[in-house]
Amino acid sequence: MSQTQTFYDMIRRQGVTRRSFAKFCGLTAASLGLAPAYAQQISHALETRPRTPVVWMHGLECTCCTESFIRSAHPLVKDVVLSMLSLDYDDTIMAAAGHQAEEILQETLENHHGEYILAVEGNPPLNEDGMYCIDGGRPFVEKLQEMAEGAKAIIAWGSCASWGCVQAAKPNPTNATPIDRVIRGKPIIKVPGCPPIPEVMTAVVTYILTFDRLPELDRQGRPKMFYSQRIHDKCYRRPHFDAGQFVEQWDDENARKGYCLYKMGCRGPTTYNACSTIRWNEGVSFPIQSGHNCIGCSEDNFWDAGPFYERLQNINAFGVEANADKIGAATAGIVGGSIALHAALSAVKRARKSPAEDTKQKETENA
Ligand code: SF4
Ligand code: SF4
Repeated sequence: MSQTQTFYDMIRRQGVTRRSFAKFCGLTAASLGLAPAYAQQISHALETRPRTPVVWMHGLECTCCTESFIRSAHPLVKDVVLSMLSLDYDDTIMAAAGHQAEEILQETLENHHGEYILAVEGNPPLNEDGMYCIDGGRPFVEKLQEMAEGAKAIIAWGSCASWGCVQAAKPNPTNATPIDRVIRGKPIIKVPGCPPIPEVMTAVVTYILTFDRLPELDRQGRPKMFYSQRIHDKCYRRPHFDAGQFVEQWDDENARKGYCLYKMGCRGPTTYNACSTIRWNEGVSFPIQSGHNCIGCSEDNFWDAGPFYERLQNINAFGVEANADKIGAATAGIVGGSIALHAALSAVKRARKSPAEDTKQKETENA
């Protein structure tokens, strides 16, 4: 394949129209939180830059990240997959297998050294010299380190590669290990979630290809544009939390009214992800909208932080407000417990309003 071939060349050959391509660029700019003008920059980069090789490797995992990625809402994602991934290496969805697949990997390593992006789904188990995950006849950890050495940048897809996830939960018999503990000296971008949101995955890849750099990361290595807010910050049930209206039992009257799931164990207040904004299945819904609490799947150690149906203790009931701690410290002794405190303060706020305002707020809450 010619090294000067661009992403645009490939999708045009696959029959994608100019209009559809422009729409993809616009949607990608929007999902990256960029101004509409950036759509042109994305379009220009994808039309003119040589295609960046992407190698996608799998360690201990369930392939849910791949499943999520290929179900991205935008129809062009299948072309992103075909054009950027399967023509290089992805041992789950590529046509090649066995020795042929291994040869493709070696070719990429030799011909694109320092140029390719290494995307990793799953993690390496280190016990018994890595024997719990053998890939191409050798321990996955060896293959991972070899490919990481020649990569320009590395993406850790999902909670397995980022944190360890279920296979690293206690007692972790295989010593499953997040990839940043076995790869040194390379930039690693973590895109956690079990799985990550497909549009987030596509946007991260497109950002790197367009701007030829990693997006801005937080202290834990996650792209800030998707992981700087908690599920709780944008949850549509938040007004019920603020009003102290909670589901007390599954399928009770409050559940039918769509009240807050905090008391049912919701991890939204401590989970950083974009589910309550981007949502899932083409933006149709997300777990809380379907009546189930967030279990914090994008957070480190989430399996061992359970059980999932026990309410969180000692969270900051006021969310992101800067003065929440001060308010809490002053009132905690009176009402005891963060939720009771918050409910009390909501009542205080209400009492400060005129009777007309109060009636209006109650109507809104009960609507
Ligand atoms: S606790 Fe959960 S359900 Fe309630 S507002 Fe926060 S994220 Fe939404
Ligand atoms: S709502 Fe919570 S548990 Fe569900 S996918 Fe999002 S982060 Fe994971």
